Amino acid sequence: MNSLTTSAAAAPGSTVTHRYLQSGPLSDIYDKVMEGKRLSFADGLRLWQSDDLTALGALANLVREAKNGNKTYYVRNQHINYTNICNKGCKFCSFYAQKGGPAPYVMSMEDVRRKLERTRHIPVTEIHMVAGIYPKLGYQYYLDLLDTVKATRPDAHIKAFTMVELLQIQKLAKKPMEEVLLELKAHGLSSLPGGGAEILTDRVHDAIFERKETAHEWLETAKTAHRVGLHSNATMLYGHIETLEERVVHLMKLREAQDETGGFLTFIPLAFSSKGTKLEHIPQTTGYLDLKAIAIGRLMLDNFPHVKSFWMMITPPVAQAAQWYGADDIDGTVVEYEITHEIDQENAAQQLSQQRLVGMIIEAGRDPVERDPLYNVIEREDSAALVPERPRVALPMAG
Ligand code: SF4
Repeated sequence: MNSLTTSAAAAPGSTVTHRYLQSGPLSDIYDKVMEGKRLSFADGLRLWQSDDLTALGALANLVREAKNGNKTYYVRNQHINYTNICNKGCKFCSFYAQKGGPAPYVMSMEDVRRKLERTRHIPVTEIHMVAGIYPKLGYQYYLDLLDTVKATRPDAHIKAFTMVELLQIQKLAKKPMEEVLLELKAHGLSSLPGGGAEILTDRVHDAIFERKETAHEWLETAKTAHRVGLHSNATMLYGHIETLEERVVHLMKLREAQDETGGFLTFIPLAFSSKGTKLEHIPQTTGYLDLKAIAIGRLMLDNFPHVKSFWMMITPPVAQAAQWYGADDIDGTVVEYEITHEIDQENAAQQLSQQRLVGMIIEAGRDPVERDPLYNVIEREDSAALVPERPRVALPMAG
């Protein structure tokens, strides 16, 4: 990482912020951040051990503003979860069909087409597709899925398949991963969502998602995708059984992989929600932990261009505040999303209008920028009209 600037006075952040960071217990980490030096495992652990959320946020904000200025990115996207049948049985998952839980479904191509047709009036730029592992689906199903999306929304970018889905698709195709990825690309796949990384350690894997791919397999699949020209994101599921050390290991593995390929675009910390899972005894993450995960991700992943606060998982207000704790992306309008349906019902709508997203970003003092999934800026004639005309500072009520 390049040094943020040669002097604190010219760096992002106010003089008060710099004085606060210089005088606190994380002052050596502040020096490293200002000099653009990479943080070590021990630094990462100290960040997680620190309870000074203000300092963590201020440090992360220095990096965030140096990389992305005052911009907050968002996308207009639609999610399609084509089946909820899954043979992996991850203990943290409430999405897959099971007794007493969600009823099973598999979408036909006609179902997919109809779902996309329903939103034809919305200028969606990204179709985001992930689902469970249903062994009865053949290789052709996945190719047909891409073809159907491409035929129905030819202009939309298809971001699809987590690493476990790709490994399943490869198994069905009986071909090397490179070949499979190129074939999927030829059918319209444009990038990978990068989900399912959970916590990249063998202990956590064996304890709560043992039937899913290992850390090594997740990283190798991601790197192979990058090598054939597919960008991906990378997630971290936090707030379950993982230790602070394991969070740091996870971040460092992502950082090393990024050094090798440069193919990750965005780091997405995902807050664990235990409702409906086999880990229901674990409480919901707090806003404090959610902001901390974003800030530490921003600080440790010096080679990731972007950090996302996914509003649907951490609630719109926390995602909004996160724009000052290291995040520069708030995800998108998210039409139809089933993975975290339990959270959705309680805390969030399934969908935010573009106007509301833009309003939230402006209210937070950031500049909204509509992007496509590869962070190309989208200019639309109607976008200026979305900026709400109202004062940022509340005026005294008359009378
Ligand atoms: S997290 Fe994914 S792989 Fe695991 S059970 Fe849920 S749908 Fe299946």
